[in-house]
Amino acid sequence: MPALVHQKCFEHAQREASSRCLNCKRYYCRECVVEHAGRITCTACLRELAARKSSRRISYGAVFAALGFLMAWLVFYGLGRLLLMIPAQFHEGVM
Ligand SMILES: [Zn+2]
Ligand SMILES: [Zn+2]
Repeated sequence: MPALVHQKCFEHAQREASSRCLNCKRYYCRECVVEHAGRITCTACLRELAARKSSRRISYGAVFAALGFLMAWLVFYGLGRLLLMIPAQFHEGVM
């Protein structure tokens, strides 16, 4: 990376850039970047990633809630069908 030496930090114009954000491809000094999931990421991108992840978590929660409801409905539907299949005489004998 020979061009890196001549690059300045995107946030700090007086500082030499030491790293490049893999997400936005901008150059930053050591203070402006963090390692996130094995990738060099600037704080702005990290915040964006965190926001995206949290919003995705909410949608996943909704999906899981819907799936849970569907599973519960299927179980109760199956049980209902099962109870209907059992002859009425058998029910009277148990009660
Ligand atoms: Zn970035
Ligand atoms: Zn900086």
